[in-house]
Amino acid sequence: MFNALVVNKNDEGKTSAAVSQIGLDDLPAGDVTVAVEYSTVNYKDGLCIGPGGGLVRNYPHVPGIDFAGTVEASDDDRYKAGDKVVLTGWRVGEAYWGGYSQKTRVKADWLVPLPDGLTTQQAMAVGTAGFTAMLAVMALEDHGIKDGPVLVTGAAGGVGSVATAILAKLGHEVAAVTGRPETADYLNGLGATQIVAREDINETTKRPLEAETWGGCVDAVGGEMLARLLGQMQYGASVSAVGLAGGAGLPATVIPFLLRGVNLLGIDSVMQPYDNRVRAWARIAQDLPMDRLEAMVQPATLSDLPQLGKDILKGAVKGRVVVDVNA
Ligand code: NDP
Repeated sequence: MFNALVVNKNDEGKTSAAVSQIGLDDLPAGDVTVAVEYSTVNYKDGLCIGPGGGLVRNYPHVPGIDFAGTVEASDDDRYKAGDKVVLTGWRVGEAYWGGYSQKTRVKADWLVPLPDGLTTQQAMAVGTAGFTAMLAVMALEDHGIKDGPVLVTGAAGGVGSVATAILAKLGHEVAAVTGRPETADYLNGLGATQIVAREDINETTKRPLEAETWGGCVDAVGGEMLARLLGQMQYGASVSAVGLAGGAGLPATVIPFLLRGVNLLGIDSVMQPYDNRVRAWARIAQDLPMDRLEAMVQPATLSDLPQLGKDILKGAVKGRVVVDVNA
């Protein structure tokens, strides 16, 4: 038997999450059984742990949309016992049982071998949020990053923190947008050269076009923030739209696209093909400054998860929460 955070739903539709003992026979079908070492807390995990169940498709459920660990048993030729692996996406932790468990069983197709130079703990300090930040930066590179500061919104959050560190390491000037001024030292430590208050973007004139300012943008916030910053992009610059922490609506006009040739790039980390995932993890191992990664990490255990799920939905988590499932 081993520990897992199990979410149940009662007859009244109320959900509850608690650390419970389960066995290998309880795990869903799959090709590869993994001894999980670390998982993380992402916005989606907050939804899946919290009341209402968010994106959960069936109960009982083990959340955790990402994990890193060691293969324990494999029916697939690509993996053997002892291999280090990492998983993000594929609706694991939503439609399928995820990483908040000391052991889990998944399809081999969903896994990626841990790249050289990364430990399982570092891989989860990156996690889904950091993997997505890397995809967002790669999309900006594909479309060309202009001279001048690159904007990162929701900068003190998971995606924003990793995006800030990667862009700074790549030599870009990073303007970090935060609603938490007290995180300025933290963001400067990650490599941000400019701290922008949330209201300085949100409470602008609301004209469709303002001064051409940003050479690119990784946006984790959406909503009003995304609508406003579109009109502040340099001619031909791109915005990687990653998240909706500030709302799913988009009260924008088409003017920035028509008159400034702005590109709005949608980033989806969930259904990324294997080759893209391998490429992004290799870039993470190469381009993410590991000393800065350590500053982002808040350690946690399985029993901390119900509270952390609430915190992340309130936007109150700084950086990345790394869950040691064996602690
Ligand atoms: P976090 O909660 O760690 O970070 C979100 C940050 O957004 C907060 O820290 C805060 O930053 C800012 N924020 C929160 N609420 C508001 C608001 N009302 N208005 C403006 N800013 C706000 O989440 P993650 O970084 O893990 O995820 C960010 C978003 O990206 C989520 O919507 C998530 O679902 C999405 N996501 C999408 C993925 C994809 O594949 N497309 C993959 C992973 C995540 P600050 O305090 O600095 O202002």
